[in-house]
Amino acid sequence: MERILVSACLLGRPVRYDGGAKPVGDEVVARWRGEGRVVVFCPEVSGGLPVPRAAAEIVGGDGDDVLDGVARVLTEGGEDVSRQFVRGARLALEAARGAGARVALLKESSPSCGSLRVYDGRFTGARVPGHGVTTALLRRAGVRVFSEDQVSEAAACLRALEGSGASR
Ligand code: SF4
Repeated sequence: MERILVSACLLGRPVRYDGGAKPVGDEVVARWRGEGRVVVFCPEVSGGLPVPRAAAEIVGGDGDDVLDGVARVLTEGGEDVSRQFVRGARLALEAARGAGARVALLKESSPSCGSLRVYDGRFTGARVPGHGVTTALLRRAGVRVFSEDQVSEAAACLRALEGSGASR
């Protein structure tokens, strides 16, 4: 059975910067949980950041640029939390590898978990195309990352991997 890494906040865990969650409330995700295929993970908490914590955005690029050391993750107050974000990304990849998960469903627009868009670094709510630090590292390792708006695409990906019997 293919496992899937899922953002903890999408499963109702109160781990967001504001102490809240963003439960996805999708019956497919509920079924995955019942099947025992979900690996729950929050990169920012695992990376050492508290709940609640200051909101942070990527300044100067997206998650790839942070991994490459040419952009930083900053709080609105200017604290550099790049190290915690990169550590969280590495731990997310370890968790995925440890569970054999080749697919992930992560919270859109987060500076860690975004897969299509991220906030633009000006703390105005504006978003730009790009992906977060964890998504960038997972994708470099070959993990297929989808957002909570793409549950059916993630489900199709799981089915395809199971149907193909593709080896890791
Ligand atoms: Fe959710 Fe990811 Fe942010 Fe954790 S780092 S609160 S899992 S979006």
